[in-house]
Amino acid sequence: MAKKYLIETFGCQMNVHDSERMAGLLDQAGYEATDSDQHADVIVINTCSVREHAEDKLYTRLGELRVLGEETGHRPMVAVAGCVAQQEGAGLLTRTNGHVIDVVIGTQRQKMLPMLIEKAAVSAFAEVDVNPWDDVSFPLGITHRSDPVKAYVTIIEGCNDHCAFCVVPHTRGHERMRAKAEILGEVRQAVDSGRREIHLLGQIVNHYQAPDDPGCDFAQLLSEVNDVSGVERIRFASPHPRHTGARLVEAVRDLPKVCKHLHLPVQSGSTSVLSAMRRRYTREEYLGLVAHVREAIPSATLSTDMIVGFPGETDGDFNDTMTLLDLAQYSSVFSFKYSVRPNTLASKRMPDDVGEEVKSERIVALQARQREIQLALHERIVGRVVDVMVDAVSRRRDTELSGRTQGNTVVNFPIPAGARGADGWIGQTMPVAVRRAGAYSLWGEAVSADTGK
Ligand code: SF4
Repeated sequence: MAKKYLIETFGCQMNVHDSERMAGLLDQAGYEATDSDQHADVIVINTCSVREHAEDKLYTRLGELRVLGEETGHRPMVAVAGCVAQQEGAGLLTRTNGHVIDVVIGTQRQKMLPMLIEKAAVSAFAEVDVNPWDDVSFPLGITHRSDPVKAYVTIIEGCNDHCAFCVVPHTRGHERMRAKAEILGEVRQAVDSGRREIHLLGQIVNHYQAPDDPGCDFAQLLSEVNDVSGVERIRFASPHPRHTGARLVEAVRDLPKVCKHLHLPVQSGSTSVLSAMRRRYTREEYLGLVAHVREAIPSATLSTDMIVGFPGETDGDFNDTMTLLDLAQYSSVFSFKYSVRPNTLASKRMPDDVGEEVKSERIVALQARQREIQLALHERIVGRVVDVMVDAVSRRRDTELSGRTQGNTVVNFPIPAGARGADGWIGQTMPVAVRRAGAYSLWGEAVSADTGK
């Protein structure tokens, strides 16, 4: 009987996609997927270390698996992958007293996963491989895609920017570009397997320069993905504001399949904090970019990432962040309290001097203001008809479908009557009349049951 594997994923879209790749490699090696830790012969925990809280989840989960083993006698092999594995390496075995973990595999070594599991299965010792690997190619046809509608496609791995707070250059290595031919091959294959929305992924996605076509930058890549027949929507994450120039804004404006939504991570609204963070743009330059996008693409939605309580952040700096929210009018914000991350510039040179209570007060204030902004933006959409690509049956009500607008706003609406059944609508793009707005989603009704394309 085939051995079974379970992959548990913490963290960002990049990790979700890495898990899809590791799942595909295990499928190819003859394993079968399961969603039960009680039935799994191998559990892969794909970790995130971008925040302290995310890292703690690994240790909690390892503790649960140890208890599971003690209580039931079921002791699956455990492989730790992702950013914590890369960061800690063999040190993870010491931190956990050596129990539970059989494999520690770094972010650049995924292709070695089946081999490391096989080696660990016949060894008294854990296998640890966190070596760098510059080869970012990944064989076509292997990725085990978990979403029926969206396909993640990596175009860049790693980052050279070394923002003061960020652990990514240490956990994912220096920036490496994937060949354009391979990217386009993966896009075509994703479409052939039924995916309609392509998400191009990279730490600084708009830094892309094709290694196999010196004239091809990110805007050109978008144009070539736009030309792939069967692609309906294109999204990308994340562009760096510093590299978001007129050429990229024009590409988003002019390419019909590229969603009119830009995620522009600002991190802080204060120029002095941005300087300490080594972001290399000022508040004014960032707001100039926002104004440029708004002028070029009036329908565009914007989202961002914010950190509160970065070392040295004063009340005045935080106030700059709050006023920037008002000026930028984001449709969503991912906000976090600063936490010290190992090996970063901030961890070495900047005392974590904003108290926990102040960080908490600031994040509560920021999120409350942002909720008001989102609600006001969403209320303006009530009464309009928007095109919604259906992702899934709603998690809250199985009588409703859930999807997203081009601007990335979630819309829920009753399943239209008809012969399709709920699942038959997944992946369809359909016009929905918006009836109600909340801070995080819209609610509406399909304009016609026949309008799914
Ligand atoms: S650009 Fe900065 S925040 Fe983004 S991955 Fe690179 S170092 Fe981290």
